[in-house]
Amino acid sequence: MTARNLLSSIAEGAMRGAMAGADGTDEETAKAFAVKVLDQVLGAGSAWASSGFTRASCPSCGEGYDSEAWHLAVCPAAGRQMLRPGDEVRVFGLEKLPQLNGKVGQLQRFVNAKQRWVLRVEEKDMLFKASNLEKVKD
Ligand SMILES: [Zn+2]
Repeated sequence: MTARNLLSSIAEGAMRGAMAGADGTDEETAKAFAVKVLDQVLGAGSAWASSGFTRASCPSCGEGYDSEAWHLAVCPAAGRQMLRPGDEVRVFGLEKLPQLNGKVGQLQRFVNAKQRWVLRVEEKDMLFKASNLEKVKD
């Protein structure tokens, strides 16, 4: 049995357990329960998520989540608001490089390893923390 099959079996088992536990448990509820079980056993957002058992994941930092509102509070890619690749943002609050405050650029991607956004400003890519970026209102 491959690891992939094993993970699928665990997910299915957890779902079946949830559905057998209470009358009228629908598939959504059972699935949510299975996700919680898998997170406890394997760690949140680990490999089981790619084993064919899908749930929502953050398009910016890539972490899986059950509740988008909850994730927003902990997402390393979110500043004052949730930020997404392609967003136009303004730099603010920099103390070491104050000359960059007020610059506007387009978000390229979030680099998890550095916990920073790549922002293209005046044809150059630079790294910024989400807490120093705010969306430009259109
Ligand atoms: Zn995120």
